[in-house]
Amino acid sequence: MSYAITPPTVPSLPIIGSDQRFPVRRIFCIGRNYAEHAREMGAVVDRDTPLFFCKPADAVVTDGADVPYPQATGDLHHEVEMVVALGGGGRDIPLSQAASLVWGYGVGLDLTRRDLQAVAKVKSHPWDVAKAFDHSAPVSALRPAGAVTLTDDTAISLTVNGQPRQQGRLGDMVHGVAEVIAILSTLFELKAGDLIFTGTPAGVAALQRGDSFHAELAGVATLDGRVA
Ligand code: MN
Repeated sequence: MSYAITPPTVPSLPIIGSDQRFPVRRIFCIGRNYAEHAREMGAVVDRDTPLFFCKPADAVVTDGADVPYPQATGDLHHEVEMVVALGGGGRDIPLSQAASLVWGYGVGLDLTRRDLQAVAKVKSHPWDVAKAFDHSAPVSALRPAGAVTLTDDTAISLTVNGQPRQQGRLGDMVHGVAEVIAILSTLFELKAGDLIFTGTPAGVAALQRGDSFHAELAGVATLDGRVA
């Protein structure tokens, strides 16, 4: 068997403390998972019907790399989020088993073309053009789960050009990690290699060309980059 064209390369992330890399299969994202952020967007948390969307795996941008300012927008927003990497998967995963599927943790930016999202909301269009564009998913190196201790007070934060923009704590998530995995698995068959963006705390705002960003999941991972 041979391919008619050169097959695409597998997107991957570095692993903290290892020369191996983590191959990315799919990127799932949950929206409105922090009440304060839902409020700032003029939305309310609907606990019974979580909002999910996807980004393509090749939207990943690795730590230290430039993010090209995207086409077709004048309002590129940052959303700092904890990123969960799965080492296993399944369908209809029981809540009690969901946490055991986590391979590692990192921090990422769910970059959003906010102006296109606003149009999509008004027209009841899908969010793909707002969320799933090229280079829309900068993600840190991943730290294996066995080396990570998370608590409700674990901080997630973002500075832009050294100035604080977003600051949250994991305990403020509406749906915790295990719950997000269990619910997602009722909608999609999850597999090893999947990444899940777990929602952003309040403080989302615009990034401009030339801005430098520094995202941090305290004690776990950091992500640095620049909008080119
Ligand atoms: Mn988000």
